[in-house]
Amino acid sequence: MSLFRDDGIVLRTQKLGEADRIITLLTRGHGRVRAVARGVRRTKSKFGAGLEPFSHADVQFFARGSELIGRSLPLCTQTQIIAPYGNGIVTDYGRYTAGTAMLETAERFTENEGEPSVQQYLLLVGALRTLSRGEHEPHLILDAFLLRSLAVNGYAPSFDDCAKCGIHGPNRHFSVAAGGVICGDCRVPGSVVPSSEAIALLSALLTGDWGHADACEARHVREGSGLVSAYLHWHLERGLRSLRYVEK
Ligand SMILES: [Zn+2]
Repeated sequence: MSLFRDDGIVLRTQKLGEADRIITLLTRGHGRVRAVARGVRRTKSKFGAGLEPFSHADVQFFARGSELIGRSLPLCTQTQIIAPYGNGIVTDYGRYTAGTAMLETAERFTENEGEPSVQQYLLLVGALRTLSRGEHEPHLILDAFLLRSLAVNGYAPSFDDCAKCGIHGPNRHFSVAAGGVICGDCRVPGSVVPSSEAIALLSALLTGDWGHADACEARHVREGSGLVSAYLHWHLERGLRSLRYVEK
């Protein structure tokens, strides 16, 4: 039996029995962790209050057995909310749908429970903070998060040099299968020719050039979102349900 403590973002909660919940968190040091919070659904219980999706919490876990994740899940024995990002997210439809897609993407990219994924964790904390403060349009924050998540998981798209032969850009053709923009010689069936503005926007979102991204015209933002969505779906093999509800 062991105690460990970590901070993490609540990705999901599920009912368990009469009064308990299973909480899924993406933690800083232990990757994705599922744990049982006892008694949190009793109305007077203060324990576990605030363990809701989008919350950033400091949690003490009590693991029964040497395995972090085994047949019996660890218990949450103490929790402290660091930042209730949900307060600034769930009251706004655009923020809520973008935030839900972020949580789902983070979960999909951390399939092995207990395996640390610090970069994915840091991306999620930063994106939820930005989203809850309304610093940029929700769909731009989402697309930046999706592109960076792809990048930290080894699927960085190229928006300048040809993704196949490496010839310097600008390159006009775009192919999700090839990994981004490609030159005329490397063009493959199914590649498209997006506007140069949409490609420049995606490049800005990937590198964090918000001045450029915030000034983009709506039609280029929509076009860029379509490319991000196609690219993400290709790599995750099946679509993310929540992306369908994101307002464009
Ligand atoms: Zn090429």
